[in-house]
Amino acid sequence: MKILKFGGTSVANAQNIKLVLDIVNTKAKENKLVVVVSALSKVTDLLHQASIKAANNDESYKEIVAEIEKKHLDALKALIPVSEQSGLLSHIKRIINHLETLLEGCFLLGELSNRTTDTILSFGEVLSSYIIAEALKQNLKNSGYKDSRELIKTNNNFGKAAVNFEISDKLIADYFATNESQVVIMPGFIASSLDGINTTLGRGGSDYTAAIIAGALNANDLEIWTDVNGMFTANPKIVKQAQPIATISYQEAMELSHFGAKVLYPPTIQPVLRKNIPILIKNTFEPEAEGTYISNKVTSQINPVKGISHIEHITLITLEGPGMIGVAGSSKRLFEVLSQVNINVIFITQASSEHSICIGILNSDAETAELAINKAFEVEISQNKIDPCIVEKNLCIIALVGENMKNHQGLSGRMFSTLGKNNVNIRAIAQGASERNISAVINERDVKKALNTLHETFFEENTKQLNLFVMGVGNVGEKFIEQIHQQKKYLKENLKINLRVIALSNSRKMYFDEEGISLKDWKSLVENGEKSDSDTFISKVKALNLRNSIFVDITANDSVSKTYDQYLKQNIAVVTCNKIACSSAYYNYKNLKNLSRQFKAPFLFETNVGAGLPIIDTVKHLVASGDKINKIQAVLSGSLNFIFNNFSDTYSFHDVVKEAGVQGFTEPDPKIDLSGVDVARKILILIRESGYQMEIEDIKNNSFLPIECMSTTNNDAFFKSLITYKSHFENLLAEAKSKESRLKFVATFENGKASVGLEFIPKESPFYNLEGKDNIVQFYTDRYIDQPLLIKGAGAGAAVTASGIFADVIRIGNI
Ligand code: ADP
Ligand code: ASP
Ligand code: MG
Repeated sequence: MKILKFGGTSVANAQNIKLVLDIVNTKAKENKLVVVVSALSKVTDLLHQASIKAANNDESYKEIVAEIEKKHLDALKALIPVSEQSGLLSHIKRIINHLETLLEGCFLLGELSNRTTDTILSFGEVLSSYIIAEALKQNLKNSGYKDSRELIKTNNNFGKAAVNFEISDKLIADYFATNESQVVIMPGFIASSLDGINTTLGRGGSDYTAAIIAGALNANDLEIWTDVNGMFTANPKIVKQAQPIATISYQEAMELSHFGAKVLYPPTIQPVLRKNIPILIKNTFEPEAEGTYISNKVTSQINPVKGISHIEHITLITLEGPGMIGVAGSSKRLFEVLSQVNINVIFITQASSEHSICIGILNSDAETAELAINKAFEVEISQNKIDPCIVEKNLCIIALVGENMKNHQGLSGRMFSTLGKNNVNIRAIAQGASERNISAVINERDVKKALNTLHETFFEENTKQLNLFVMGVGNVGEKFIEQIHQQKKYLKENLKINLRVIALSNSRKMYFDEEGISLKDWKSLVENGEKSDSDTFISKVKALNLRNSIFVDITANDSVSKTYDQYLKQNIAVVTCNKIACSSAYYNYKNLKNLSRQFKAPFLFETNVGAGLPIIDTVKHLVASGDKINKIQAVLSGSLNFIFNNFSDTYSFHDVVKEAGVQGFTEPDPKIDLSGVDVARKILILIRESGYQMEIEDIKNNSFLPIECMSTTNNDAFFKSLITYKSHFENLLAEAKSKESRLKFVATFENGKASVGLEFIPKESPFYNLEGKDNIVQFYTDRYIDQPLLIKGAGAGAAVTASGIFADVIRIGNI
């Protein structure tokens, strides 16, 4: 004998019921079957809503009844030949009429007892089992129907009645001992009390019905047919990478289901465990998938963690005060009072000082629990020996489950550090002595992030997902996206980094996709996106609350640079090629570095100096290893180098500057480069990264631009002024020639002082042959005394800058 149970989605409509019937017909060829069915998907919820509305005098409950009626009539019409429909349709209508009468009673009385609720909810399974039994009869004549209420007897605890196994087992065994049908269809979830009143086994309880039958009949196995490929390593609706678990022990499955894996109703295991009947979880929509096999075998797997589950809508109640210490029985009293008001305690921790005790319950029980506890400890509270209980709502429990966890060290350490790195605040922790479960209470809004990041740590060979939020998709941004698109596969396979772009924004439009933007059509997605706005952008990034989030600033915008602190404070990393923040007031630069440390959110800006050249990274390594930077000499402006390398008797200063702009080597406002401000910002950043405190005003700027060029207020006027002062630039060139030298814009830091300016560089200097838009930096340190440490290479251009930003992102991936 085999017991099969089909859940709500499996019997949601005629189309799905046909799949169910195919499975049943095939299996019936080899075995006698009992088939337990749930209500059609969502029907129990609809019945619940209708009953509440009716009791609240809201007539719209009738619309819900009409919806329920239609669902069932539609299913029946599609499953049964027209010639045989009429009797069955009137039977359904009679059942619906009965339901309407009950709801009308609630409506008139304005009342809804637990007992009535159970009767109303029972209609879902009554209707579904009737339709399915009739549909099955079409093909399988030797099939029958039995109402579970006649076989499963319970107490009167409406809503979640306790089964009387002694009586039920006997009734079930007796009935099937004489039953000849090859298949018997039965409704799940519903039962009756000894005096014949309708009861239910708790929401999701059809699984339990099937297990009760399996246990009573000593079935060969119990198959739970649902809408997923088995019990997964985490809820597959929340963790996309979750995988079905092939085999799992009863204890582990019980632990996972108790901690929220809805795929199996927790009490289901008990009746089959006693008889050692294995459970197979299968997918109605993919019957060929293997599913999950639950038995008494503990499989020794390399991974001691079997799954991660969670329970939402949790409230923590803490009872504390000096009166708790050493006074025997405080916890006993606490649990007694909760049990008196019928509240299920899901989670318990007690500090070893006995100073406080903390319990986790459902949000819906919070008010009742608070009142009951404060009442029970009224005397101690009035004497200030115990504080009124502290109630924290909207939390969530997450749990790692695995039988073999007890044989492995460091799992809880890994669990908590993974959460910590993602800024998930842990409110309470519990680990059972069996060590089959380590659970933590966190904020509900962090649950998706927590589950995904834990899943990554324990199941995905350490693949790390990085979620990028990119602002600025001009020249550099475009190259950056191209590079990500090209390297995505390589990074996943070789570095185990799963890089996803979640948001892209330019100054006009922005586009978000929580699942990762398809990079091949990113341009049209952004163009058709919503109006961009920095504040909305930040709130969206925060609300998504994705793990390993990185904000990437590829703008040269002042206001964007002022938002970094908001990201860092949310544990969101910042990668930027925008120099404004790091060259602004020292306290601001320092504040961002501190926030980065405090919130464990990397703040990287390698491209602020020398585009993709590893200059800042080198400084960091020198400083970290104890070296001291004493002197820096550098040509740090790729644009100015390009300009002075090309400026000649035949190529005017004005034309070269124009060309540099066209090629993307200058800032959008070329004056920032030509005035030396850009170079001053860069040397300032290097000085600060070397460990010195300095402000931009402390850097002497020996500008080569005539004051009239400097004071222009827009690009047009600036370019005109370059023509007007043509001879000024020609004189500089002539002077360089006469000195057999070349013009280079040099930044220097020595003896605590810094300056930038145009210099005549003689042939013997390493700066003399600096080509194109290259940069060069020389560091003189305690260790590099005579021969400086030298870094040289292309220091401007979209592709190299993009690759520098990319390198920063990868650095974060490797942390
Ligand atoms: P049925 O109606 O078939 O009883 P349920 O909705 O009760 O189905 O249970 C199946 C659902 O359980 C899945 O669709 C999935 O969303 C949810 N679920 C939660 N945790 C897990 C898990 N660890 N493995 C599989 N499914 C899970
Ligand atoms: N129909 C019931 C519910 O929705 C029982 C079940 O589906 O298991 O809770
Ligand atoms: Mg279920």
